[in-house]
Amino acid sequence: MGETERSVKKMKKNNHLEKSAKMIRGQKQPEKEKGKEKEIEERVKKIIRILRQEYPSPQTALHYRTPFELLVATILAAQCTDERVNKVTPGLFQKYPTVEAFARARQEELENDIRSTGFFRNKARNIIALSKKLVEEYGGRVPDSMEELIKLPGVARKTANIVLASAFKKAEGIAVDTHVRRLAGRLGLSRQTLPEKIEKDLMAIVPREDWLDFNFLLVEHGRKICQARRPRCEECVLRELCPSASKLAPPEAKKSGGKE
Ligand code: SF4
Repeated sequence: MGETERSVKKMKKNNHLEKSAKMIRGQKQPEKEKGKEKEIEERVKKIIRILRQEYPSPQTALHYRTPFELLVATILAAQCTDERVNKVTPGLFQKYPTVEAFARARQEELENDIRSTGFFRNKARNIIALSKKLVEEYGGRVPDSMEELIKLPGVARKTANIVLASAFKKAEGIAVDTHVRRLAGRLGLSRQTLPEKIEKDLMAIVPREDWLDFNFLLVEHGRKICQARRPRCEECVLRELCPSASKLAPPEAKKSGGKE
């Protein structure tokens, strides 16, 4: 093997390693990496065990009866609260009881129906377009694979992961929403900021059997304790395992007195 060939091979190998989801810290020393990975994997297991005790029924807060209803509700939940979506969907699903009904919906009318969830023009456009696609290509059914779901208009990995996990009990990834993004950073599980990269980091360290629930566990904890503006580190069950506890707790505790 010539020098150039060896260099190219080495470069590819390094690139591969760099891209690997296990390269959370970007370290160059393999032994150091291994130790770091092991430490994070062990910590993640403990975090999951504790969160499962705190939140024994991890699931989406969105109300739905079918995979299609969950798909629509998840799209509506972008930049909106689940509570707000749950107020809108009962009337919406009564007015449009089938995929075909959504496929036939008039853009302006649907916009008005979902206006209170925000970004209603885009959401209405996507819901009508994906309903048409489901009718034309899937006989009105929601596909149960990541590959097919992300080809639907307005459906990215986060939405697909939620639908797969909740409606089909399938774990093909980990949904990264605003709570998961925030907590993954604070808990030192990922240094990335892009959802796809955070997901890759998490998939490397979260045991596969926990993928289904991991998003819901972090979302619950994010809503109740590790809130964006005022994390309640002083009463958090993860504080012993969280590298941000010491950085965030003292000033916040002073400000809030430990309560909201
Ligand atoms: S210790 Fe604080 S920053 Fe860490 S998870 Fe708990 S609330 Fe969030």
